[in-house]
Amino acid sequence: MVSCVYVESSVKHHERTLRILARFKNAPVVEIEHHGEVFNPSAQNFRLQKSNPALILAHKNNRHALPTPEGYGLGGKHNFYFSHMLNCLYDCRYCFLQGMYNSAHQVIFVNYEDFDDDITQICAQHQSEPVWFFSGYDCDSLAYEPVTQFANFFVPAFKKIDNAWLELRTKSTQVRQLLKHEPCERIITAFSFTEQHSHDKLEHGVPSIEKRIDAMRLLVEAGWPIGLRFDPIVYHENYQASFSHLLETIFSIIDPNCLHSVSLGAFRLPKNNFRQVNKLYPDESLFHQNLVLDNGIVGYPLAQEEEMMRYCEQQLLQHIPTHCYQPCKWHE
Ligand code: SF4
Repeated sequence: MVSCVYVESSVKHHERTLRILARFKNAPVVEIEHHGEVFNPSAQNFRLQKSNPALILAHKNNRHALPTPEGYGLGGKHNFYFSHMLNCLYDCRYCFLQGMYNSAHQVIFVNYEDFDDDITQICAQHQSEPVWFFSGYDCDSLAYEPVTQFANFFVPAFKKIDNAWLELRTKSTQVRQLLKHEPCERIITAFSFTEQHSHDKLEHGVPSIEKRIDAMRLLVEAGWPIGLRFDPIVYHENYQASFSHLLETIFSIIDPNCLHSVSLGAFRLPKNNFRQVNKLYPDESLFHQNLVLDNGIVGYPLAQEEEMMRYCEQQLLQHIPTHCYQPCKWHE
């Protein structure tokens, strides 16, 4: 449930706004000029908002698709991200979104057609080469699908551009809309997993591992390509056995030959995001582990990171073909 829906005046008659409002008939609706009035002010109580967020329906004016930050590591030669939504339904303690914005309210930019126009234009500039787009940078791509109808719009939009590739990154089970469409080899749904202990402790509101594996199975059976993201790997006494168990559980159901890509990365956060999230949750034991600052990133010391990556990599490569494996290492 949302506590309130704020609507920018410029989109109050937008078809997508009206459809979303119809889902929240009991929520108070407040008209605003710009989402920044509600979303940007500092000194907001992030934790309180996170437990009772408002929804903000807004118009994204420009910069609909942007180059991915350097070292993003996945994709191809041309990589972009776009955000139809800011913030996430779920509440993962390690998530960099926790420290990203002043507000925990959820913003949906309803003018999908403008994102589509920019994506089409960017692809036209690289006609002979694949161009990758990532939609899970500022939110979970699919978690809010029943409200946003994001995939329902963008799947056909990407299908019509021959050199456009899309990664939908998710921890949700919201695959129903995807299953209504014919599969496309250029649209990859990448499911993120941490092992059971970290899931229980750190991923508040995220569906169970079993339910997400089942969602993957449905996509695979329908012919959709999927990816796996084991990121972040979080250290605890039993992480090795727990990670191996996670792999066994997944690959007892999912055929590794159906995988488009698999990535692996140890816990890390950009320095400023770490500072923010640590301020929000000072008692969180994750932030009191043996962490170091290196090149603007806070994470495990190099030797520990290497050891964790080595172990997890070894386990992973017993299940998956090497060609789809992509490690995410951050120490310089
Ligand atoms: S599901 Fe992803 S985007 Fe959402 S809180 Fe967790 S890590 Fe962040």
